Amino acid sequence: MVNAAALSLVDQLAERHSLSLGDYQRLIEAFSPDLAAHAAARADVQRRRYFGNAVFVRGLIEISNYCRNDCYYCGIRRSDSGIRRYRLTPTQILSCCDRGYELGFRTFVLQGGEDALFDDARLVSLILRVKRSHPDCAVTLSLGERSYESYRRLFDAGADRYLLRHETATPAHYARLHPRSLSLEHRLSCLRNLKDIGFVVGAGFMVGSPYQGRAELAADLKLIETLHPQMCGIGPFVPHHATPFRDFPRGSAELSCYLLSLLRLIKPDLLLPATTALASIDPRGCERGILAGANVIMPNLSPKEVRGDYALYDHKASTGVEAAEGLHELSRRMEAIGFRVVVDRGDPPPPLCPSRVGARHAHGAPAQAKPVT
Ligand code: SAH
Repeated sequence: MVNAAALSLVDQLAERHSLSLGDYQRLIEAFSPDLAAHAAARADVQRRRYFGNAVFVRGLIEISNYCRNDCYYCGIRRSDSGIRRYRLTPTQILSCCDRGYELGFRTFVLQGGEDALFDDARLVSLILRVKRSHPDCAVTLSLGERSYESYRRLFDAGADRYLLRHETATPAHYARLHPRSLSLEHRLSCLRNLKDIGFVVGAGFMVGSPYQGRAELAADLKLIETLHPQMCGIGPFVPHHATPFRDFPRGSAELSCYLLSLLRLIKPDLLLPATTALASIDPRGCERGILAGANVIMPNLSPKEVRGDYALYDHKASTGVEAAEGLHELSRRMEAIGFRVVVDRGDPPPPLCPSRVGARHAHGAPAQAKPVT
């Protein structure tokens, strides 16, 4: 039996893009396959208004697995002495971008642990070089917490976007996932700084992380509603064998997809990836994420010899459609479900022009963008 009150909350969210904290929690409590199907159908309508059936791809380059932090969930945390540490040279990173460009990527995401060797001067020089080689591409950074001045320098050098998941919106829960040196307050101040500076900003959280309940997830949805980042990364928590959370169960693919749909309803123009974590626990995770309302996929563009070393969690996928070389296969799999992978920077869309609201491909970008062939 589908809960009629919950169905009507989904409809309200689709219309108003906002609910009270209590109603978000009720929606999470009421989660069922039928309710999720309803939310996904509403999410699909919203997504098409802005993006048509376009799926954007980002080439993910994992530049370093050195990290000064000790997050309890993360496989590259400082105190994991069992992993082989690496950092890519600027030449290696540039050649990943060149290869990605040929494949059809127009966004490069430079992600890594908080590695002091990637100081501002080195990053500025790297960003300038990537932008000089590929002026038509966007550069996204995902390098953790830095000072306002540092973010400013990276932005001035030409970086366009920054991904910094808030991880959980509840201070007490944040404190159970991180050592004392890290705080939600500081994480959120970084997000606000990034926004102020002018980055296109991504927040996000894990689904099913240890000690997470419905109240915590409701707070995450409310945070996305109020912070309104242009991007949001969510995926299931997956345990890593060498972390304090090794014995916790992984998050659910079904709940992750349901939350993708709710996020799409909260912010219809959101750049929302079907994440590697989802694809890692479900062989059809990519398709399921897109069908739930996601519109971005981030295949791995790191050099093959280091991919196994950027192990945030066990069994992290980096082959098949999760690999940049699998772009054609990804494109085929997206076509099979009615979507098309496009060669496009995939910037946040402009607001809908009222006279064209509801029009498919209301904007030029996705409609005109070349499909990957
Ligand atoms: N150092 C950067 C990048 C972190 S890795 C930063 O601080 O933003 C990117 C994301 O991977 C993290 O934000 C976290 O949400 C996710 N992640 C880390 N460990 C994970 C795990 N065990 N399961 C699922 N996701 C994980």
